[in-house]
Amino acid sequence: MVFSAPHKTGRWELEALEMAMRAALHRAGAAALSQLLQFPAPASHQRNIPCACGHQARYRELRSKPILTAVGPAETSRPYYLCPDCHNGQFPADVELDIVNTEFSPGVRRMLALVGQQAPFDRGRQQIQLLADLEVTTKNVERTAEGIGQDIAVSEKAEIQRAKQLDLPIVLGKPIPILCVQIDATGIPVVKKETVGRQGKDGHPARHRDVKVGCVFTQTTWNAEGYAIRDPDSTTYVAAIETAEEFGKRIYLEAWKRGWSRAAKKVVIGDGAEWIWSIVALYFPGAIQIVDLYHARQHLWDLVRKLYLNQEAEQRRWMMVHQDMLDKGKIEDLVAALRSIDSSHPELAEAVRTTAHYFQANAARMRYPEFRSQHLFVGSGVIEAGCKTVIGSRCKLSGMFWTARAANAILALRCCQLNGRFEDYWEARRA
Ligand SMILES: [Zn+2]
Repeated sequence: MVFSAPHKTGRWELEALEMAMRAALHRAGAAALSQLLQFPAPASHQRNIPCACGHQARYRELRSKPILTAVGPAETSRPYYLCPDCHNGQFPADVELDIVNTEFSPGVRRMLALVGQQAPFDRGRQQIQLLADLEVTTKNVERTAEGIGQDIAVSEKAEIQRAKQLDLPIVLGKPIPILCVQIDATGIPVVKKETVGRQGKDGHPARHRDVKVGCVFTQTTWNAEGYAIRDPDSTTYVAAIETAEEFGKRIYLEAWKRGWSRAAKKVVIGDGAEWIWSIVALYFPGAIQIVDLYHARQHLWDLVRKLYLNQEAEQRRWMMVHQDMLDKGKIEDLVAALRSIDSSHPELAEAVRTTAHYFQANAARMRYPEFRSQHLFVGSGVIEAGCKTVIGSRCKLSGMFWTARAANAILALRCCQLNGRFEDYWEARRA
């Protein structure tokens, strides 16, 4: 059909031809695979195999099952064993083929995981159709991507557990001039049951759960004006919905893998959130701590808008003076200036007190000229961009509502992919 088509119609429709050719080759490949996947019945002296319960499972019959492979639907037929004691059945061939409890071959599952971490599951289904000529459902993409993400998340948990118990091995390599960790959090929309008993903003029930996000990158150079430049492709990410305590271990392990122990200069940047600095105190003692300059400025803006309600000129004038103190790292002066603000309005007085406290508590993290003279970043732009790349573009699209479990699975898969570690995971899985 393919070879005669151009002659019959007198026209070349290459796309139709190439697709027909691919479909034909897929069918041939699937037929060949199905042949290969016909396992013989075991010889009479090999009909008993060990069962997990400690007894012996007995060979019963050959059973077939369909498998969707990279070349389309195929079928395998393999020996089935049943344990007369615990009534558990098993297919040893499925273990070898890595198709236990799934009708998707490893090659197809890898494709589904790739598209599932990158875009909404239905988009993934469409990509698989176009790129691989395979028919799957949206649910297939979802379940497979989440299953693999879950598997990655579980092995990460185990790694974190091991790291906690043992001294971490020193990661060998070249010395790193500056290793930077940035930490932040961003909310994702969740299904109702995830927010039961959780208070949202302004007394409304919570519709979001916070994903804690961290990134690690290196910097070796700076530009002509002395501003820090991040080493290209040096950023790795971690992200999960979990407690600050759990997340602390996660980001610590990531920093360690990236060579924390051999970094000449260690830096952590975050906004003023207390949980971030608690993690730093616990896991990154000795690091240079920096509060994101733009968050700090925002605190001044929030205050001045209350001090001079709708008086823009006054606001700007006040900011000129106070932001200058902030930018110059003269935090003691700034705190004194804030404390000298005399307000009889109780709410305003409270806002002034809170802001003054914020700057006082973070003073050592706001020596911006000192940080700049060392060519360090003073903003958390990298992690903010990371929040969009890792989480926003995948988990915050309209109509999406996550369970914490599904979100953590997809985030584990997505970070693994973005960090360039998916091949390693798959390799380890094969082994
Ligand atoms: Zn048994």
